[in-house]
Amino acid sequence: MGKPTGFMEYARINDKHLSVAERVKNFNEFTPCLTDEEATVQAARCMDCGVPFCNNKCPVHNNIPDFNDLVYRGDYETAIRVLHSTSSFPEFTGRVCPALCEAACSVGISGRTVRWTG
Ligand code: SF4
Repeated sequence: MGKPTGFMEYARINDKHLSVAERVKNFNEFTPCLTDEEATVQAARCMDCGVPFCNNKCPVHNNIPDFNDLVYRGDYETAIRVLHSTSSFPEFTGRVCPALCEAACSVGISGRTVRWTG
């Protein structure tokens, strides 16, 4: 677990979207990624549950608690290896998945769930 009290200290950041006026100018991404600092904070919200419901709900059973811990520590190389251990194309599945892990996250019992940082 990255930070045991992270889920109590940090608020969830939801996706940001560029305005329509900005989007129509090009075909670029219109949901900006989290900055490294934002990803670290969001990953710190994970409680590393003993029985991680997020992992159970994930269609490809991504090891989300370990991934979050590695993102929190800034070890992105190992984090991507963890994702590749369960999914051949995490860059693709992470974009199209409706984030069932978030719906199952235990933090949602008393607050806003951990955000998928992949
Ligand atoms: S259910 Fe939520 S808090 Fe628990 S390990 Fe998964 S992402 Fe972290």
